[in-house]
Amino acid sequence: MKTYQVNKNGFYGDFGGAYIPEILHQSIADLQETYLEVLESDSFKQEFAELLRDYVGRPSPLYLAKRLSKRYGGRIYLKREDLNHTGAHKINNTIGQILLARHMGKTRIIAETGAGQHGVATATVCALMDMECVVYMGETDIKRQHANVQRMQMLGAEVRSVTSGNRTLKEAVDEAIQDWCANPSDTFYLIGSAVGPHPYPDMVARLQSVISKEIKKQLLEKEGRDYPDYLIACIGGGSNAAGTIYHYMDDERVKIVLAEAGGKGLYSGMTAATIHLGKKGELHGMQTLVMQNEAGQVEEPYSISAGLDYPGIGPLHANLHTTKRAKVLAINDNEALNAAFELTQLEGIIPALESSHALGALPKLRFQPDEVVVLTVSGRGDKDMDTYLSTLSQ
Ligand SMILES: *Cc1c(COP(=O)(O)O)cnc(C)c1O
Repeated sequence: MKTYQVNKNGFYGDFGGAYIPEILHQSIADLQETYLEVLESDSFKQEFAELLRDYVGRPSPLYLAKRLSKRYGGRIYLKREDLNHTGAHKINNTIGQILLARHMGKTRIIAETGAGQHGVATATVCALMDMECVVYMGETDIKRQHANVQRMQMLGAEVRSVTSGNRTLKEAVDEAIQDWCANPSDTFYLIGSAVGPHPYPDMVARLQSVISKEIKKQLLEKEGRDYPDYLIACIGGGSNAAGTIYHYMDDERVKIVLAEAGGKGLYSGMTAATIHLGKKGELHGMQTLVMQNEAGQVEEPYSISAGLDYPGIGPLHANLHTTKRAKVLAINDNEALNAAFELTQLEGIIPALESSHALGALPKLRFQPDEVVVLTVSGRGDKDMDTYLSTLSQ
């Protein structure tokens, strides 16, 4: 049977793999050998499930949005990851990886963060598990995302300011990798999206797959069948989307729609539409689609939403696009903003700016009245209030 899952060499079609410095070969090999065994063990499954239930608050509701459905047709359900502890889906992954780190005898966690959401989710689980936590963050992002920096510090993490290059996410990743190279034996690199060298993309997808596992059960209860006609999610690196589609990827009855950040427009020079504009290349340990110039230099991405502001994309999604299994739409800043206000007015839910890109796909699609649509609201909008309010006053 044709599958869109990773193969044993860590590839999704032409994308993926593990392109890493020699000094990390042992660490990556250890991880490749260990992760499946641990993730599939009864003791891991039990502890993970308990924490997801009692600490995160899962299962997250699957909510039939009646007024939104009335506007766009179909029966539109929202998968409410915004209701999780710490306000987004990222906590599902950080809990899973810290359990693995502890199992592997690691005592120190490093992470990098752009908007600070993954940094907060990592600092949270480090407090929970009493582990040392160092978060790399570009100096520019530290200034832009001050509230999240303060949350990380209160949670006990050390936030290290990165001052090279553009002082944003890409440089923070470079510094985190250097730290890992210097401390390979005691340190676990906790990656926040379905990106990086194998096994990270597959590991993160599996940890987030609880989202689609719950969707199956909830749809069966509500619709009498365990699959939707459409799944819609936003993609930065691709972890909430991977979790949303995980158990449906090989089920061709289900249409997959992914929303990437168009920024100010595909050809404006200010965009993060990696899948539309990217070319095959190597970034952060993987082969994937990368926004790069003629000389192969990575281009600085732009999006109104800090969480989608990444010049690459997870290899799983690069393959879903290339094989035409998924339809990928670029949603511009203004379309995402309109969608955020619309959801707020129709349903009383203020979504994260990232999630608003998924919502921004709705006006571009046509549903039959009896079609079932599941759209993942990856996070809540508290962190984006300044942006939302400044558009109101314009
Ligand atoms: C980080 C983030 C994203 C983007 O990351 P993915 O790995 O693509 O899911 C989307 N939504 C929210 C709320 C986020 O915090």
